[in-house]
Parts: sequence; C-alpha cells; structure tokens
Amino acid sequence: MLIDRYNRRIDYLRISVTDRCNLRCIYCMPECGIIHKPHKELLSFEEIIEIVAVMAELGIDKIRLTGGEPLVRKDLVNLINSLSKIKRIKDISMTTNGILLKRYAKELKQAGLMRLNISLDSLRQDRYKIITRQGRLEDVLEGIRGSFKVGFSPIKINILLLEDIDECEISQFLRLTNENPINLRFLEFMPVNSFYKSEKLFSSQMVMDIARRFQEVEETSVYGNGPAKVYKFKNALGTFGIISPMSHKFCDTCNRLRLTSDGLLRLCLHSDLKVNLREPLRRGLSQEEIIRLIKLAVEIKPKQHFLDKETILKSQEFSMCQIGG
Ligand code: SAM
Ligand code: SF4
Repeated sequence: MLIDRYNRRIDYLRISVTDRCNLRCIYCMPECGIIHKPHKELLSFEEIIEIVAVMAELGIDKIRLTGGEPLVRKDLVNLINSLSKIKRIKDISMTTNGILLKRYAKELKQAGLMRLNISLDSLRQDRYKIITRQGRLEDVLEGIRGSFKVGFSPIKINILLLEDIDECEISQFLRLTNENPINLRFLEFMPVNSFYKSEKLFSSQMVMDIARRFQEVEETSVYGNGPAKVYKFKNALGTFGIISPMSHKFCDTCNRLRLTSDGLLRLCLHSDLKVNLREPLRRGLSQEEIIRLIKLAVEIKPKQHFLDKETILKSQEFSMCQIGG
C-alpha cells in the first residue's frame, strides 16, 4: 500500500497518454499550440503497461486516461484492452473532449473502459467554438449520444466555469439533469498559466445559488466523484457536483499521482516535484528498484497546493494539456 507522510492513501493514477490535442481551448493552450515532446520521449504502450502493473502491486486500483486528448493517440483502444487485464485494476476511466467519441465509443466499451468524463464548457454553438477555437459542438453531442447507446451510463460532464458563463447557460446545463443520467461537474477555473487570465472567478457557490432558485436541491453521492460535492433535483435522473480547488481546497484527501506522457511521475498537479520513471525503465532497472523509486516519490508528495498565493503563480509556467488536468 502507498501511504504518504500525511497519512493519505494513494490509490489513483491519472495517465496522460499524449500531449497532443485536436482542440485549442483558450484556457489550456495558446492558439499556435504547444511544442510537443519528440515521439521517442513518449512512453510506449508497453512501458505504460509495465508502470501500471507495478503500481497495481503497490495498491493503485483506479486509473484514468487523459491527455492532451487521449483519443488522438493511435491505437488507444489496444492500450485499454491491455490495462483492463491487469489484476487489481478495478476502475478504468477517461477524460476526453468527446470530439472523437462517435467514432470510438463502441470499441472503448468493448476494450474495457468503464467510465467517461466529457469536457463540455458550453451548450451554445458559438460560445463552444470560441472556447475551443476549432471544435464543433455537434460532434461532442453525437459522441455523448453514441456513448449512451453502447452502455456508458451515467456519463460525467466537466464544465469549466469561465468568467463569461452566465446564469442562463448554467440553468440550461442543470435542466438536463432532470431527464438524463448525467453527472455534471462544475469546475472552478484554476489560474495556472500566463496565456489566459480570468479577471473574475466564477465560483461554485454561484452555481448552487442558481440551482436553489431553480428547483429543490438534495445532497447525494456518486461513485468515483473524487473531491466533488454532489447534488440533485428531486426525482432527477442526473446530478450536479461542484469542484472547487480554489475556494475549498481538498488537498488533505488527495489520493492521486500523475504520469505524464513522457514518463514523469508528478506528485501534485500544482507542484513541479516529479520523478522520472522513463529513464530507469529504459535503463533496465529491476521491478524492485522501480518500486523503490515510486515509494520515494510518494514520500515527497506535497501537503497542499498554493494556487491562492500569487507569488507561486508568477514563478511557475504550467501546462494542463501536458499534465492532463
Ligand atoms: N483533452 C481532454 C479534455 O479536455 O477533457 C483531457 C485533458 S484536459 C487538460 C482535462 C481537463 O482539464 C478538462 O476538463 C479541462 O477543462 C480542465 N482544465 C484545463 N485547464 C484548466 C484550468 N486552468 N482550470 C481548471 N480546469 C482546467
Ligand atoms: Fe485539448 Fe483538453 Fe486542453 Fe481543450 S482542455 S485544449 S481539449 S487538452
């Protein structure tokens, strides 16, 4: 079992399988994109599988694939197929922008993917296009319909609270939960890079205020919802949750590690602390030595993030599309 020095049990690994993406969301990437890692630096599927197998021995039993956009990595379905055969891994999920889901949903389900989180920041075609710079809302909606059809249900929808989201649009999202098995997750924007600034933080509390004005709200729970608090309207099929890393830190229950596409094990989304697993693996270190490295890494997992302290932000350029959110 992996327990860190703050007595947190680490059982969840998020794997960024690529730093490439088919969108250019204004808050995540500059318009010209980012400089990608050379292919030879990316972990091969065999290397990812080897790392997950070792991690599983250490008590990691939940994994999430992310990116960049995970579905742009060639043959991703084969990776999922192999990961789903690793003993002790009991939950495999994916965070995707959903653009390619209409093509892959069925194969993903058959390969053993269990749960889907789809990032969808707007239900308005024009606003969706502005946020993603090149996405077509209809592609994502078709992907969601296709995913329901092959048995992904419920589906989680991540909505980033950008400053120009308005009450009307939040109500539009909330209304969908009455008749659809979707779990909405409103995410507070995190000010982590210099190319997108939000003057006003739209806080999760504002979503709750809108919801309460709209209909009667009850507290509930959803499997795998991590740090989100979850609510629903009476008799609704879906739920809505609030993820508020800014206004309510949840570092004291953090159970996760992150593996970047180039093989760095990152210990906190907002810290530069990392351990390179790719090089030791390529140098042929034994499984025992890799285990020792992972245990040492967990030892230095930071207690909490300091995103609320401006000084840290200034010193740190940070790319969500490389770490995976
Ligand atoms: N491409 C996939 C997607 O968009 O779902 C996976 C990678 S993306 C980096 C993962 C998540 O990070 C998305 O839901 C995105 O909204 C979120 N994200 C990116 N930048 C963020 C920021 N500054 N604050 C909060 N969430 C952010
Ligand atoms: Fe791509 Fe996801 Fe970043 Fe948007 S949030 S640019 S979809 S990695």
